[in-house]
Amino acid sequence: MFALEQGRYTVAAGATGVIRASRDASVSYALQRETFGTKIANHQLVKQKIAEMEADYQMAHLLWLRAGYLKNTGQANARATSLAKWQATVRSEKAASMAIEVHGANGYSNDYPVERYLRNCKAAIIYEGTRDIHTLMQADWALGLKSEKSARKGLPPWSPPDARVAAVD
Ligand SMILES: Cc1cc2nc3c(=O)[nH]c(=O)nc-3n(C[C@H](O)[C@H](O)[C@H](O)COP(=O)(O)OP(=O)(O)OC[C@H]3O[C@@H](n4cnc5c(N)ncnc54)[C@H](O)[C@@H]3O)c2cc1C
Repeated sequence: MFALEQGRYTVAAGATGVIRASRDASVSYALQRETFGTKIANHQLVKQKIAEMEADYQMAHLLWLRAGYLKNTGQANARATSLAKWQATVRSEKAASMAIEVHGANGYSNDYPVERYLRNCKAAIIYEGTRDIHTLMQADWALGLKSEKSARKGLPPWSPPDARVAAVD
């Protein structure tokens, strides 16, 4: 389980990257593609998709950073790591799907990277505990039917090279 919690952490990070990549590709395309005499970035429902990708990216990133903080300080993190993995992967599927729609038919082709993001995100929803298993675990923790165990193995103390906090872009 200790090993799985490290794996789930890396899966959360990868899925967070898929959300960011989906957002970045969509922003780039929306600022280029024109329909009805204007860039599609000016259409409200395109904006909505990009806004949701931005929010999902920031939330997944924060959940992942929280799990990392708990790990670095030797605290129990199974619940936080599960939450980060579950939410990042589920939101990455949503982001990749929306990115394809922002690209229209181009999104369905492999001329653009977004179709690959949708395929990639599905594996991460399945491995290291499926979406269903994390849903059940989170419910059981919230209901008090499952208790958080102490971290089975501590990591060596970590100190940042400087006080600078990594920029959240
Ligand atoms: C690309 C990829 C790479 C992988 N790499 C590895 C690897 O390196 N090492 C490794 O060990 N495994 C790996 N796996 C396997 C992965 O961990 C399993 O596929 C995963 O745990 C699901 O098991 P399963 O495929 O047997 O599905 P099943 O356990 O048969 O699940 C089928 C469905 O039933 C649901 N389900 C099952 N049990 C329950 C339950 N108790 N409650 C509610 N719903 C349930 C599941 O959520 C799922 O929707 C990989 C899988 C993929 C897709």
